[in-house]
Amino acid sequence: MKPTGIGLATACLLSRNKLTQFKSLDLIAPLQKALQDAGYTTPTPIQAQSIPFLLQGRDLLGIAQTGTGKTAAFSLPLLQYLSENPLKRMPSSPRALILSPTRELALQIQKSLEVYGKHVRQRSAVIFGGVNQGPQVKALKQGLDILVATPGRLLDLMQQGEIKLGKLEVFILDEADRMLDMGFINDVKKVVAKLPLKRQTLLFSATMPQDIASLANQLLRNPAKVEVTPQATTVERIEQKVMFVDKAHKPALLRHVIADAAVEQALVFSRTKHGADKIVRDLKKWGVSCEAIHGNKSQPQRVRALDAFRSGKLKVLIATDIAARGIDVAGVSHVINFDLPNEPESYVHRIGRTARAGRDGSAISFCDSSERSLLNSIERVIRKRLAVDVKTAALAGVAAAKAHEHRQSLHSGQGPHKTPSKPLPGKHEHQQAVRKPGRRVSSAGSPPRRSMMW
Ligand code: AMP
Repeated sequence: MKPTGIGLATACLLSRNKLTQFKSLDLIAPLQKALQDAGYTTPTPIQAQSIPFLLQGRDLLGIAQTGTGKTAAFSLPLLQYLSENPLKRMPSSPRALILSPTRELALQIQKSLEVYGKHVRQRSAVIFGGVNQGPQVKALKQGLDILVATPGRLLDLMQQGEIKLGKLEVFILDEADRMLDMGFINDVKKVVAKLPLKRQTLLFSATMPQDIASLANQLLRNPAKVEVTPQATTVERIEQKVMFVDKAHKPALLRHVIADAAVEQALVFSRTKHGADKIVRDLKKWGVSCEAIHGNKSQPQRVRALDAFRSGKLKVLIATDIAARGIDVAGVSHVINFDLPNEPESYVHRIGRTARAGRDGSAISFCDSSERSLLNSIERVIRKRLAVDVKTAALAGVAAAKAHEHRQSLHSGQGPHKTPSKPLPGKHEHQQAVRKPGRRVSSAGSPPRRSMMW
């Protein structure tokens, strides 16, 4: 079933081009003041479109990626509602629940609630797994308005009777597609089964796969729909390119790429935890300050690494897809896909970690011979072909010859040549070749041509 089949009211009331000011959004003075303190003047499109509906108490389906300002889009109306309808706080019984797929995102949301809610009376708590539940339970018992939670720990504490959701008024499901990817959808459904039927529900998702459309249909009542970017298109400010490289030469290429002065801070994605650790070992050998975050790291280790990255002490952070969710570090100038993701949608999530807070950003993807079909899938999803950078791989030395082989093999449509090392490509090949769909690229003697899939 398509998302349009779920009886949605489409939010076309506010044109995206019209520069709405926060002042015109009917937000109460303490929230306006907090926004001013945070330096926000103009609402982002998702905020301009969602806030009026949410202030009316409408359910909402928001199709938006992180980086679009969706946290403020749902937090501001929520804080306003709670502030205008005060109730005595009850221990362990939140009035609003925000479900997040990862602990990093949950922490990020709670930080934002504190920023936006600093002049209103609200108390929020955040719970997630992988750490001792004691302090979390203590915070719940003190009474709270808003609970930010990951699904596993929430269910755990609900089963222990430490959280009661019978008085819940607002339910926000953030990054629903990610919940699905991470296998949390059944947990989400178990949580939903315990919620009062009378409530306001918001569902945010970057993409709208079938399962999420069905879930939205079950959860939302006559929702407004707002969509700020077409499904799975990439942020326009990000320069994207691909470098063909032999798998064994990826570490050397990475070392070369991050040594570039233009790289202020790089977030490097590895498909596996083990791979992430190996990248750290390789880079440390070469004296690069870096750490990894992934599911095998303890929560304090992850927080330490993220804080060091955020403060600029670490130049490079290596992450797996799941751990990187919710990372919002303005200094990330480059996202480097050491491995291409298995799910093309993850590419969109990954590169969205750069070009934050109005800055530009670069996304560089390494692609070895086994990843060519993944690259094709990504290009189909983003509806654009990535520019091929042959120059950098050539300059990186060892990687260049192999990259050249890949280009040859792509041209012939076969796997990499099993011939001994070829000489480095000639000078005229050290140029970035930008391919346009349907056209051959002629930056070199043997144009990199892949089979076209559309
Ligand atoms: P989010 O998509 O909610 O993760 O937000 C992405 C980034 O944009 C965060 O760093 C926010 O602090 C920032 N942000 C959100 N809304 C605004 C706004 N209206 N003006 C300026 N920055 C914003």
